[in-house]
Amino acid sequence: MFDYLIIGGGVAGLTAGAHLATHGRVCLLDGEDNLAHHASSRSAAVFIPAYGTDAVTALSRASETALRGAEVLSPRGGMIVGMAGEEAAFDAALTGFGATEISPGVAAAQVPLLNPDAVTRAGIFDHAWDIDTDRLMQGYAKRIRTTGAVQVKNRVEAIHHESTGHWRVEAGDDTIEARVLINAAGAWADEIARLAGVAPVGLTPKRRSMARIEVPGGFDPTGWPMIFGVSDDWYAKPDAGALIVSPSDADPLPPQDAWADDMVLAEGLGRFQERITHEVTRMLANWAGLRSFAPDGDLVIGPEPEVPDFVWMAGQGGYGFQTAPAAGGLLAARALGLAPEIDAGVVAACDPARLRGTP
Ligand SMILES: Cc1cc2nc3c(=O)[nH]c(=O)nc-3n(C[C@H](O)[C@H](O)[C@H](O)COP(=O)(O)OP(=O)(O)OC[C@H]3O[C@@H](n4cnc5c(N)ncnc54)[C@H](O)[C@@H]3O)c2cc1C
Repeated sequence: MFDYLIIGGGVAGLTAGAHLATHGRVCLLDGEDNLAHHASSRSAAVFIPAYGTDAVTALSRASETALRGAEVLSPRGGMIVGMAGEEAAFDAALTGFGATEISPGVAAAQVPLLNPDAVTRAGIFDHAWDIDTDRLMQGYAKRIRTTGAVQVKNRVEAIHHESTGHWRVEAGDDTIEARVLINAAGAWADEIARLAGVAPVGLTPKRRSMARIEVPGGFDPTGWPMIFGVSDDWYAKPDAGALIVSPSDADPLPPQDAWADDMVLAEGLGRFQERITHEVTRMLANWAGLRSFAPDGDLVIGPEPEVPDFVWMAGQGGYGFQTAPAAGGLLAARALGLAPEIDAGVVAACDPARLRGTP
């Protein structure tokens, strides 16, 4: 019998397991051949503490020390660029990112690919870092393995709540028993709830796509910041000598192994193209992942009100990595019935009870 059975081997399940591993025996299950096969292997891998709802930014800020301690952050910086007609969006982005306005010429000196004739306004900010997501997740998996088990290729197919009060889970040929179930199944978290006889919280998985392209004009992008269109309809980031460009899409889809839509990618690359001096010629790769959101956009972390041994760790949206340490700490505190370290307002904002009308 395990103390905690975690369903889902993405960053949410891994941080949950790492934070619970010192408190009991943990078993983490994932249905795919490898950990982090879905959203957690498809992200932009960036930490921008100013990004997201109030509760998300609080979780992100509270995660910074742990991310630094894990040695997974490296400086990137950010830049916002706007064109004629985007003045209101630019002003909002300037405030939202806490950026400082610079002239288009200064922006183009920093990122020579930018077209100073097309870009009418620009701003920069320091507080954006690349996250070494593999290293972060490997560190979490290692912490789980010290006292527990990490099992892939084990898709959960049935969940029973026994009269003795523990959970019995059927996954492939295995039957696993545990005192507490942690639902960290990403886009599938509502499906796992249904299997367990718990009402879904109404998560919406939304596709976000990415194209990896050769840098137009052959520039070396190594020291460039991450660049955002102010209308939230594209962003670009240096990636090992190439650029990743996202159309910032957010199309709702059922849970699935998502892939990029050619037209959505082409439209996003078109918006990027309008702001640069050289032609986008070669796409090296593309992919998409599902970012799953609760109806109010906040994470869902804590026990199900009527079923307290069923604990949610879901709704990570576009922030699963940058919130991971603090979200894992909050999850462990809620699962153990301890006082969370984070502010009570954040605990309430993430509490599944808020989605049940019983806060
Ligand atoms: C393009 C893109 C860019 C992003 N950029 C950033 C970024 O820069 N910074 C950031 O912080 N976040 C970013 N994100 C968001 C981040 O990737 C997600 O928030 C995070 O990966 C979600 O993690 P998860 O563990 O909840 O989900 P997942 O990684 O999807 O993990 C869920 C796991 O549950 C497993 N599972 C489901 N059902 C079952 C079952 N029945 N049995 C067993 N296992 C099951 C799945 O196999 C899967 O591995 C981005 C996402 C995308 C798609």
